[in-house]
Amino acid sequence: MLIRNSAILKVSLIFITALLSLGQATAVPSRPVPQALITRAQQVTGDSFPFTTTTPRGVTIFARTNPRVEVLRAIDQGFAELFAVALRHGYRNRLNYADYTVFIGRADRMTDSQGQYSPDIALPAAQYAGSYYDQGGFIYAAGMVLAFNPSAFVIAEHGRDFGRITNVVRYEGEHIVLYYNDRALYERTADHSRGGTHPILQ
Ligand SMILES: [Zn+2]
Repeated sequence: MLIRNSAILKVSLIFITALLSLGQATAVPSRPVPQALITRAQQVTGDSFPFTTTTPRGVTIFARTNPRVEVLRAIDQGFAELFAVALRHGYRNRLNYADYTVFIGRADRMTDSQGQYSPDIALPAAQYAGSYYDQGGFIYAAGMVLAFNPSAFVIAEHGRDFGRITNVVRYEGEHIVLYYNDRALYERTADHSRGGTHPILQ
């Protein structure tokens, strides 16, 4: 009886260990991400992000499903362009891929008002209420900064036009790079309801 019990216990321990390591492959990023950040991303988007991975260059990704390799490469390319322009301006802070976490949320629209392919996320209007961008309590945005430390933003899922992902990553990343390298320019450019758009850094 004891022996049999212990055999059962061993089998169930192995099973639990297998489940845990399976979980680690899909749910634990390469570096810890605070639960508060994940909760904020969920609140802003209305999505959950059960899948976690990293891009080839080390950006932490949270997504609803396993992102295509083209998506991961497009994200890396966006950061590559961002870091290149930042270096030209003499910036040195937050220029590592591993500094960043990108959430990929469900698109709330697929085309813009001109009918162009434009996967965007509906976000609470906040400071955009009553502005040109206001859609009635919310705005459509290609991306949005979620946190500065750790540095994170959200973009929408794309099925094609991955070059657009590269642009969105470069543009959202601009706000974070400016925050850490030129706070005055960050303050002047963070709120698009007061005018201004991307790219900020030429
Ligand atoms: Zn912006």
